[in-house]
Amino acid sequence: MARPQRERRICALPRHTLFLPCEDGETEAVELSLDEYEAIRLMDREGCTHEQCAQVMQVSRTTVTEIYASARQKLAEAIVCGRKLVIGGGNVRLCDRSNPCGRHFCTGAGTEKDPENSSARSTGRKCNKGA
Ligand SMILES: [Zn+2]
Repeated sequence: MARPQRERRICALPRHTLFLPCEDGETEAVELSLDEYEAIRLMDREGCTHEQCAQVMQVSRTTVTEIYASARQKLAEAIVCGRKLVIGGGNVRLCDRSNPCGRHFCTGAGTEKDPENSSARSTGRKCNKGA
């Protein structure tokens, strides 16, 4: 039933891709795709609106809403049921110099050697409206 998924742009790959509950939990992993991770990062960490998130990821707002809902459901499953959380997969393309999203928090374009050096992390600034 899976239709071919259109490519989605994300700023960078996550630095952490595996989370385990300290207690014995259920063994089956919850798999969060990279685009789902990016939607959570953009909206819940950077404070982007669905519209801004759609612009960064180059998808429609409807698609962002679907990605976000799926991501939240998976995160809830992981933390409520104590399941292993694995982040990876999905049809994504990274921000780079030829395809930048232009956002201040972007860790892709122009900073490929130092993804830690994100000004958003230290200042806690929110998503800019302009690009
Ligand atoms: Zn970016």
